[in-house]
Amino acid sequence: MTPFASLAGKTALVTGGSRGIGRAIAVELARSGASVVVGYRSGAEAAETVAAEIGGRAVQADVSKDDEARRLVEEAGDLDVLVNNAGITRDGLLMRMPDDDWSAVLDTNLGGVFHTCRAAARGMLKRRAGSIVNVSSVVGVHGNPGQTNYAAAKAGIIGFTKSLARELGNRGVRANVVAPGYISTRLTEELPDDLKELMLQNTPLGRFGSPEDVAGAVRFLCSDEASFITGEVLLVDGGLGM
Ligand code: NDP
Repeated sequence: MTPFASLAGKTALVTGGSRGIGRAIAVELARSGASVVVGYRSGAEAAETVAAEIGGRAVQADVSKDDEARRLVEEAGDLDVLVNNAGITRDGLLMRMPDDDWSAVLDTNLGGVFHTCRAAARGMLKRRAGSIVNVSSVVGVHGNPGQTNYAAAKAGIIGFTKSLARELGNRGVRANVVAPGYISTRLTEELPDDLKELMLQNTPLGRFGSPEDVAGAVRFLCSDEASFITGEVLLVDGGLGM
C-alpha cells in the first residue's frame, strides 16, 4: 500500500534548508520518498550535513538575487516540488526602520519567492505538473508591531501565491501557502521573553510549534492527496491566528 502523502519519484527543492523549519521540511520530504535539493545561503556545513543525512544535494545560492535563484533552480533539475522557505527578520519600529532593513527583508522573503517561482514555473508548465509551497507567517495575515517589513513581505507572499495559483492552475501546477505561527527555531529564540509569553497565552494549543509540525503540512500540500488544493493558505499555528 502506498503511504499517505508519498512523494516517491519526485524531485524537490527546499530553499533555506540548512536549519530550522527548512531543515525539517527537507528531512520530511526525503522521508516521503522525494529526492531533495537543499538550498542555502551561508551555512554550507549545516546544509551539507542535512544533504548527507537525507541522501540529497546541497546547493548554495542567495535567492534575493535573480541570477543566483535561476542557477539554483537550474542545478536542482526538473522540479516536481518547490518549497520557498528561506527568510530573514530585521525587526524594529517603523519610525526607526533603516531603508536597508526594509529592503533586505522584502528582497529575501518576497523577492526570493518571485525569483525561484519564475525560474521553476517554465519547467512545471511544460510538464503540466508541479506543486509550489511558499512559507509565509501568521504575521503576514494579522500583522505584528515591530515587523512592518516582515509582515509586508509575508502578506505579499499570500497575494503572490494566490495570483500564481490562478495563472498556473489550468496546466496542472498548484501553488499554496503555509503560514506558521510561533515555531521554536533560531529565528524566534532571540525574541524578548514577554513577547514569547504573550504568544503562548494566545495559542489555544498552549505550546510553541516545532519545525516538524510545519514540515508535515508542507508534505501534505506537495503530495497528490492535495491534488485539488491550490491558492490555499494553511495556518500551522496552534490556533494563534484564527
Ligand atoms: P532560520 O533563521 O532558522 O533559517 C532561515 C533559513 O533561510 C536558513 O537556512 C538560511 O540559510 C536561509 N536564508 C536566509 N536568507 C537567505 C537567502 N537570501 N538566500 C537563501 N537562503 C536564505 O529560520 P526559520 O527556520 O525559523 O524560518 C523559516 C521560514 O519560516 C522563514 O521564511 C520564516 O519567515 C518562516 N516563519 C518562521 C516562524 C518561526 O516561528 N520560526 C514563524 C512564521 C514563519 P543560511 O543559514 O545558509 O544563511
